[in-house]
Amino acid sequence: MSWTEELARELGAPVQTDGDVLASFARDQAPLAPAGAPRALVRARSVDDVTATLRFANARRIPVVTRGAGTGLAGGANAVDGCVVLLVSGLDRILAVDAATRTAVVEPGVLNGVLAREAAARGLYYAPDPASRDISTIGGNIATNAGGSCCLKYGVTGDHVAALKLALADGTILRTGGLTKKNVAGLDLTRLVVGSEGTLGVIVEATVRLLPAPRPPSTLLAFFDTLDDAARAIVAMDALADLSLLEVMDQVTVRAVDEMTRMDLDTSAAALLLVQSDARDAPASIARCEELCRAHAARSVLCTDDPEEGRLLLGARRMALPALERKGTTLLDDVAVPRPALPEMLARIRRAGERHRLVIGTFGHAGDGNLHPTIVFDRTDAASTSAAFAAFDEIVRDAMSLGGTISGEHGVGALKRDYLGAMVGEPERALMARVKAAFDPHGILNPGKAI
Ligand SMILES: Cc1cc2nc3c(=O)[nH]c(=O)nc-3n(C[C@H](O)[C@H](O)[C@H](O)COP(=O)(O)OP(=O)(O)OC[C@H]3O[C@@H](n4cnc5c(N)ncnc54)[C@H](O)[C@@H]3O)c2cc1C
Repeated sequence: MSWTEELARELGAPVQTDGDVLASFARDQAPLAPAGAPRALVRARSVDDVTATLRFANARRIPVVTRGAGTGLAGGANAVDGCVVLLVSGLDRILAVDAATRTAVVEPGVLNGVLAREAAARGLYYAPDPASRDISTIGGNIATNAGGSCCLKYGVTGDHVAALKLALADGTILRTGGLTKKNVAGLDLTRLVVGSEGTLGVIVEATVRLLPAPRPPSTLLAFFDTLDDAARAIVAMDALADLSLLEVMDQVTVRAVDEMTRMDLDTSAAALLLVQSDARDAPASIARCEELCRAHAARSVLCTDDPEEGRLLLGARRMALPALERKGTTLLDDVAVPRPALPEMLARIRRAGERHRLVIGTFGHAGDGNLHPTIVFDRTDAASTSAAFAAFDEIVRDAMSLGGTISGEHGVGALKRDYLGAMVGEPERALMARVKAAFDPHGILNPGKAI
């Protein structure tokens, strides 16, 4: 009997081994990150399925790659050769929403957007809002410490995680965190698991924090003649106004979005900024931003207090990646720099495009200094492909040299592992490896990823 048949017997359910099925679970949404060939797919229907799979794999030293919705952009959920892909998206129940403690308890496969709507129906707010919120899972969001547009004011996913139920590599269940807002007993293992990209355990339940529903936002849309003016306006606005969102799109991105959506954006401008405030005095904050944009030579500025109009404008930003993907093969980057370094980072990205004769569309969460330079190239052309990777490499190193990070929100995954040593230094990387070994002594959980 093969081990996949043994595993099926252990689970009392079929284990998929069909090549075509496995191929469709071998990759996430980062087409150029390395991926191996899985040997089996387990569709977990219960926590017991997860722990049984882990016990089995740990005893036989079989690698396990946990998968949520597979929308990751760093190859984190990519298969490794001979692994079990452990699909947890089917564990998708919201177990409780408690207004008294302002928390929700969810299984890992609940989609972010589903939880956000459930919270909103009760007058509450689940803040983490990756642009993929309608297609990505809470488990995946926690495992990548996903960001989004709201981080400027509300922080990243990890800031909203109160407690976790984690299946360790040997199938043991661990509970971390708790319901109290304050909790300083021992090491903060909840925060350690956040962002660990499936390398420390499998999240089988999460308790997340909810907030009171925010006020309806006021919105500003501004177009600039130069990216540098826009970048300087970002730095000024962020310092002087109470904002909940501050996003940038360069001309390449604006043109791609306009072509796709026919929103009638100003495609001759070099950059677009989208700004929101949900503060008590939101209209005043946005009026202040209007002044600052005009002081930084904005060619046009539009402000609205109508939340629906604001939502429509935000739609343009959410379309940035799909619109650029229509232009060719894309190599999407995710770097972040301290905000004052934004003008220099944007200039370096532009120069990298010119040097390598590549189209690079840059958009991102500018208020967080988090940019997604997206290199559009021809994958069938070897010169174009090697130029794309060279530009990608330069951009990542530029971000580090400006005091920034190799990943603001997508994670290291399989895509950026080679940069981690340079980013954090070898002693810290070695310590990370020892922490991983303490959780997963046989190294079966998502080997070759993240750390
Ligand atoms: C159009 C689009 C827009 C996006 N916008 C954003 C954005 O604004 N901000 C942002 O941060 N990201 C964004 N992303 C990236 C992606 O959606 C996030 O990284 C998301 O958190 C991944 O969730 P997932 O369920 O798809 O996880 P997967 O891709 O399945 O997995 C991601 C990682 O988490 C691990 N993992 C998944 N579930 C678990 C679990 N239960 N326990 C332990 N480990 C687990 C996997 O092993 C893998 O390492 C975007 C992606 C797309 C396609």
